[in-house]
Amino acid sequence: MELKDLQIYNSLSGEKVKFTPIKEGFVGLYVCGPTVYSNVHLGNCRQFISFDLVYRYLIHIGYKVRYVRNITDVGHLVDDADQGEDKIAKKARLEQLEPMEIVQQYTLDFHKVMDQFNSIPPNIEPTATGHIIEQIEMIQAILDNGFAYESNGSVYFDVEKYNESHPYGELSGRKIEDLISNTRDLDGQEEKRAPLDFALWKNASDEHLMKWPSPWGIGFPGWHLECSAMSTKYLGDEFDIHGGGMDLKFPHHECEIAQGTASNGKSPVRYWMHGNMLTLNGKKMSKSTGNSILPDELFTGENDFMEKPFDAMVVRFFMMQAHYRSTLDFTSDALVAAEKGYEKLAEALKTLNDLKTSGESSLNIQELTGSFYEAMNDDFNAPILVANLFEAVKFINSVKDGTQSISKEDLQLLQKEMTAFVVDILGLKQGKAGGDDKLSPVMDLVLDLRQEARENKDWTTSDKIRDGLATAGIVVKDSKDGTTWN
Ligand code: ZN
Repeated sequence: MELKDLQIYNSLSGEKVKFTPIKEGFVGLYVCGPTVYSNVHLGNCRQFISFDLVYRYLIHIGYKVRYVRNITDVGHLVDDADQGEDKIAKKARLEQLEPMEIVQQYTLDFHKVMDQFNSIPPNIEPTATGHIIEQIEMIQAILDNGFAYESNGSVYFDVEKYNESHPYGELSGRKIEDLISNTRDLDGQEEKRAPLDFALWKNASDEHLMKWPSPWGIGFPGWHLECSAMSTKYLGDEFDIHGGGMDLKFPHHECEIAQGTASNGKSPVRYWMHGNMLTLNGKKMSKSTGNSILPDELFTGENDFMEKPFDAMVVRFFMMQAHYRSTLDFTSDALVAAEKGYEKLAEALKTLNDLKTSGESSLNIQELTGSFYEAMNDDFNAPILVANLFEAVKFINSVKDGTQSISKEDLQLLQKEMTAFVVDILGLKQGKAGGDDKLSPVMDLVLDLRQEARENKDWTTSDKIRDGLATAGIVVKDSKDGTTWN
């Protein structure tokens, strides 16, 4: 129905354009997934939640979507350069574990956090180590086409050669001359012909933990290659949408364009989408400066930045209040405000279920629900959608007060569309912030009993309740604002 109206900002052309998929009714969507060597951080979560919104909306307006998001479990070197240790292998060495134990641990953490944020899993979640053969085949094709060279058991992409026939730097808006003059000297990377060249395959030393045989010797694939190999395998030589964080534009996505074009002659992606970063109290999040918070620390309240714990749905709602291409600043005050807004919205959805109808509506409901679509059709503008939903909230509360009226048909329409946009598209689970619907009354009762025990100084009982809940996976936290659970 609204398929024809979707406008999408393409990072490659730098403008908002009408979305026209390659195959009618079908969208191939690829998003760069996490490198699983540490707990997923909030900035990454924001990217994945932004593309979860894109995925959900495309499905809602009737597309069949194949959503692929990879797991990087090899090849991502420290400092994102061609030199240095593999991030996962380094962690494995430091913790005396198998690299795959690191991969398993942080993949599980990633899935858990995504689930807490109510993010729908992708249709395919391929791993780099599971696609070594496809990566070797792609390297061979690039070599055969003359855009790469072998050197001492490694294979490098020949950027200057590629640039003779295709613009390298078109996505990030960089010129090859500037890139060359800004690149450091070879720094002992004498295997490369030129500093800009990037690794497709790296020769591995004996002590290297993750390595495979290849036509060029024992080694491992370069980081940029996995996304090209896996997107080609599952979505084809050319597919519709490729997403990721802005920090991936260069060199990662620039290299993906070069690899795809060099291996099969086609630029691989029709629409490039990039999400913006988030900040914490106005400053860049960074582990090294300590200005950093993990999702779990946000949910439990165990952090130095927020005055209280926040439910994952509140955090998700907060993220929806900024457009994916804008930066978003996490502060305690902003999250408290988002929590109030979220509760108001959830309350209105409940009110909607028992509104009284009358002959005629005092507001044009089709226009109102149409504004939800207009917002999302405008490059997935979630903050405008949220503003329009609050127009609806205002109206719902006025109908409840009796100052406005709604007809039976309009009420059905409003219920249908409000639920679709809040629950299915924004991905906000219905129910009170802080827990799921069925558990809430039970938890209220249990926490009352615990409170009584505490007031009677019956510590045995209160500890028994707390420990029993912990065994059931429920963490209770007491603060000056009362008791919360997660
Ligand atoms: Zn990628």
